[in-house]
Amino acid sequence: MKASAFSYARATSVVNALELLAAHGDKAKVLSGGQSLMPAMNLRLISPELILDIGEIAELRGIAVRGGVLAIGALTRHVELARSPEIAAHAPLLTEAIVHVAHPAIRNRGTLGGSLAHADPASELPACMVALDATIIVRGQAGERRIAAKDFFMGIYETALSAQELLVAVELPVARKNSAHFFCEFARRHGDYAIAGLAAQAIVEGDVFTDLRLGFFAIGDRPVLAKAASRLVNVAATPAVLFEASSALGEELDPQEDQQASASMRRHLAKVLLGRCASALLGRPDLDAGGPV
Ligand SMILES: Cc1cc2nc3c(=O)[nH]c(=O)nc-3n(C[C@H](O)[C@H](O)[C@H](O)COP(=O)(O)OP(=O)(O)OC[C@H]3O[C@@H](n4cnc5c(N)ncnc54)[C@H](O)[C@@H]3O)c2cc1C
Repeated sequence: MKASAFSYARATSVVNALELLAAHGDKAKVLSGGQSLMPAMNLRLISPELILDIGEIAELRGIAVRGGVLAIGALTRHVELARSPEIAAHAPLLTEAIVHVAHPAIRNRGTLGGSLAHADPASELPACMVALDATIIVRGQAGERRIAAKDFFMGIYETALSAQELLVAVELPVARKNSAHFFCEFARRHGDYAIAGLAAQAIVEGDVFTDLRLGFFAIGDRPVLAKAASRLVNVAATPAVLFEASSALGEELDPQEDQQASASMRRHLAKVLLGRCASALLGRPDLDAGGPV
């Protein structure tokens, strides 16, 4: 199938893009890498009247460290995230996660901003943003909004962005002393969307978590920052404590059922991921005895 007929405009700047978005409203769609937009158009799941190509806007590119903040432009491609020494040094969770996003050809074109604006609940990068406590920066004609990642994702393919706004950048706090991260996903094949996954960021002092952020993906209608993490913070992690955290996680999650997995299988996999995460980050093989259930 081919896409319906559409008009095409190439924005020359953020200001120009915002003018065009204001003029065309929700009849326009922003084009970044096109790796999600074009398949959706070719399948006629969406039929925008205007494609607004922002790919040439230089101010939306780049990775920089300023003070305690790592700033990443919306047009930064997945391959650039994977190769960036700044990301590897200050947000290694992203470096580890990015190779699980699709395949090299898609990572060569797909962008961070596109992935976050698309908001597929099975996507790796939204969950990383939630785990890393990212701030998502969006701009409209009325000015800039800074939105915490945990509030940005609002449902399946749904975000806090309006049709007249552009996602322009993301800011991450740079990794603190004693930072540790964990990333794991279950997928049928490497590169497929996950059946269940976990991106986690922690501070580990001695053998105790003093901070733990668990970003589950493919387990709900959006990335889930699990409240159950608090049960593992500032306590000695014993199998009993992990069991309690795991039970609380099971109560908290509301997984969906689809062709890939039932809700109960996803809940089970989330608990397995929690056990693996605690075990790996604390160096405690006894906490991962096949995963608590
Ligand atoms: C075969 C295949 C497998 C894939 N597997 C995975 C996977 O395992 N994990 C995964 O996470 N993704 C996967 N993807 C999606 C891929 O990662 C896309 O690159 C990503 O979702 C979108 O990035 P993009 O730059 O291509 O966005 P586009 O396709 O250009 O845009 C996606 C959506 O976001 C909007 N948008 C884009 N940029 C902005 C912006 N700056 N401001 C506001 N709105 C914007 C667009 O209007 C559109 O609605 C897969 C894609 C394919 C085709």
